Amino acid sequence: MDDCIFCKIINNEIPSTTIYEDDDIKAFFDISQVTPGHTLVVPKKHVQDIFAYDEDLAERVFKKVPMIARAIKASNPDIIGMNICQNNGEIAYQSVMHSHIHLVPRYSKDDDFSMHWGDNTGLVDNEQLQARADKIKQHLED
Ligand code: AMP
Ligand code: ZN
Repeated sequence: MDDCIFCKIINNEIPSTTIYEDDDIKAFFDISQVTPGHTLVVPKKHVQDIFAYDEDLAERVFKKVPMIARAIKASNPDIIGMNICQNNGEIAYQSVMHSHIHLVPRYSKDDDFSMHWGDNTGLVDNEQLQARADKIKQHLED
């Protein structure tokens, strides 16, 4: 897409620090480097978010993530873990509307990454949980 910053990076119209590239994806450093080595894995095809992937594209993109994650981890013995996040929609902190996967290497509890996980265990009963699950199941595709 013409006005998409990640399409421009993929087409080398905007520079990036690229660590891996093939026919399907480009992996380059996130400019913000939340932690050192913070990388974005981006499909070369412009898709907005996770809801726009078909199975073939998902396979071609997501299957590369472990290989890139291992390379990042192997590059620095101080990396002791990694968060992999994929934001979809403004409410979920997506700011660039070309789908991407964040690989954030983790160095310590005090590095510059954090996440809040609420705990709503037990807030609804099993019947309500089952009804919630059934609604989702109706929409699963083969
Ligand atoms: P998100 O908020 O999940 O949509 O992530 C978008 C990410 O793109 C942010 O973490 C930005 O720092 C990053 N970003 C924006 N522009 C560039 C750029 N020119 N090169 C590398 N990363 C970028
Ligand atoms: Zn794009």
